Parts: sequence; C-alpha cells; structure tokens
Amino acid sequence: SKANGKNSYFLFTKEMNARVFKRIQLESDMRQALKDQEFTVFFQPKVQLGSGAVEGVEALVRWQKPDGSLMSPADFIPLAEETGMIVPLGEFVLETSCKAMQVFDGIGCSDIRVSVNLSPIQFQQDDLVEMVVSSLERNGLSPSKLELEITESTLMTDVQSSIAKLNLLVEHGISISIDDFGTGHSSLYYLKNFPIDVLKVDRSFIRDITTDASDAQIVETIILMARNLGIGVVAEGVETKEQIEMLREFGCELIQGFYYSKPLPLEEVITYVRSIGTA
Ligand code: C2E
Ligand code: CA
Ligand code: CA
Ligand code: CA
Repeated sequence: SKANGKNSYFLFTKEMNARVFKRIQLESDMRQALKDQEFTVFFQPKVQLGSGAVEGVEALVRWQKPDGSLMSPADFIPLAEETGMIVPLGEFVLETSCKAMQVFDGIGCSDIRVSVNLSPIQFQQDDLVEMVVSSLERNGLSPSKLELEITESTLMTDVQSSIAKLNLLVEHGISISIDDFGTGHSSLYYLKNFPIDVLKVDRSFIRDITTDASDAQIVETIILMARNLGIGVVAEGVETKEQIEMLREFGCELIQGFYYSKPLPLEEVITYVRSIGTA
C-alpha cells in the first residue's frame, strides 16, 4: 500500500542519514586523531620456521583512543582510503617504521626487515617512490631492510605504470611482497610480470590446511612454485602447531601468525626479539 511505501522510504532515508552521519563523524575524528597522535604502529614478527629466529616484522597501524581502547584497521582503513586520509596516515606508518628500523639497528638487530602495507591509493600517488626513498634517507637507513606489501588488486589498476613503479622501487633496493596472495584473479600473472621478492599466502588458504585436502594441495603447490621461481614465501595467519608441522613438511620457511606472536608495540617486539634472537 501507499502508506507502507511511504513508511519504508522514511526508514530507508533515516538509516541512510545515520550512516552518512557516522561516516562524516569518523572522518573528522580521524583528521583530529592524526593531529593528536592517537595513531600508533604495532609490529608482528615473521619467524623462520627452522630456527624460530625473527626474520622481519610487519608494521600494522592501530588507533589508540584516549580511553585506551584500540580500534582495528579494518574499521578505519576503508574510510581512510575513500577520503584520501590514507596518504598522510600511510606516511606516518612509514616514518614510524623507519624509526623502528633505527631502534633495531641500535640494539644490534639491523638484519630485521620491516614490512609496510601500501594501500592502492598510496601506490597510485605520483610521488610515492620519492616519498619512500626520502623517508629512508632522512632516517639514514639502507633500503634493503624495507619491504613494501602490496595486494594483487593494487597492481592491476594500471599494469604498465605498476610495473614501472615497482621496478623503480626495486632499483632503489627496496623489496616487494605480494600480500594476500591467491585471493586475486590473476595471481600467476603477477609472478610472471612483476619484480616480486616475497609471496604472502593468504590466511584463508592456511586456516584449514590440516582438514581440507585441497587447501593443503594449493598451499604446497604455491610454496613449490615460489621456490622454483626464487621467490620467498610467508605463510600468514598461522595459529596452531598442526599447521606449523604441515608447513614444515611443505618446505615453508617463514611464518607469521598468532602461533608465534600477535602484533605488538615496539618495546614488546624488542623483548620478543631479544628472547629469541634474529635470523
Ligand atoms: P594484512 O596486511 O593482511 O595484515 C595481517 C592481518 O592479519 C593483521 O590484522 C594481523 O593482526 C592479522 N593476523 C596475523 N596473524 C594472525 C593469526 O594467526 N590469526 C588471525 N586471525 N589473524 C592474524 P590487522 O592488524 O587487524 O590488519 C588488518 C588489515 O588492515 C591488514 O591486513 C591490512 O590490509 C590493513 N592494514 C593494517 N595496517 C595498515 C597500514 O599501515 N596501511 C595500510 N594501507 N593497511 C593496513
Ligand atoms: Ca600485509
Ligand atoms: Ca595479508
Ligand atoms: Ca588481508
């Protein structure tokens, strides 16, 4: 009926208004939070399966509210990308990661590689390479210890310019890893056409390897293929001893996941590294 139609229309707009309002609120909160230094960076160890040594760490941004609560990147990265806030936020993460590299240097752990996630919006910035290189230079760091994590879809937006950009980064001595490997639509295409150092096998493949025979097959095959191509492999989201045993059998060398450690504040990562040692 007419009345019903009006009614649902009313509810629809009301709900929309609430969503739009929430978005605007979150955006202005983020802008303020960046000024107030509420963002912080945690680091999650990537561990060598054989020795347990820390080969590197992944930088993961957190929003620490004044009340002490932590907001997960899944809840603000998408909006940060929509609004362009990801650009200054990403620069902050990179700069903070450079500071962490200096700290690792200072405690005799200069071998630890630091990985930083790049969002598609950041990757598309004309001055990306310049921004990354100048951040390294400003902090007196060797580019060889920086790895940039890029997802498959980021590279597919404009293949030719992506290849050119990656080549430029690689020429500077920066490493490139493909994040969430296997979740895109043309994973093999990347391996053939992009200068890739590392594949990060997505958690969705790792999760059920001990119970799902085809997941196990896929992971084993990815590891074998990467090895034949001379590309490193990191298994993401590893949580159990059983998964570790299977990955060991498959010849996987690097593990990132709660089994070894959650993402930690820098001081706690240092404690972890000191208790375990580096690669
Ligand atoms: P990602 O790059 O795939 O990062 C790995 C995510 O998996 C992290 O979530 C990490 O905490 C989580 N993780 C690691 N090991 C395990 C495990 O064993 N089990 C489970 N269940 N989860 C595990 P986090 O920190 O919440 O980050 C989520 C996503 O947000 C990241 O996924 C990345 O896409 C994005 N992100 C985080 N920090 C940044 C950043 O600085 N810049 C950009 N552009 N994106 C970021
Ligand atoms: Ca990542
Ligand atoms: Ca990932
Ligand atoms: Ca992911």
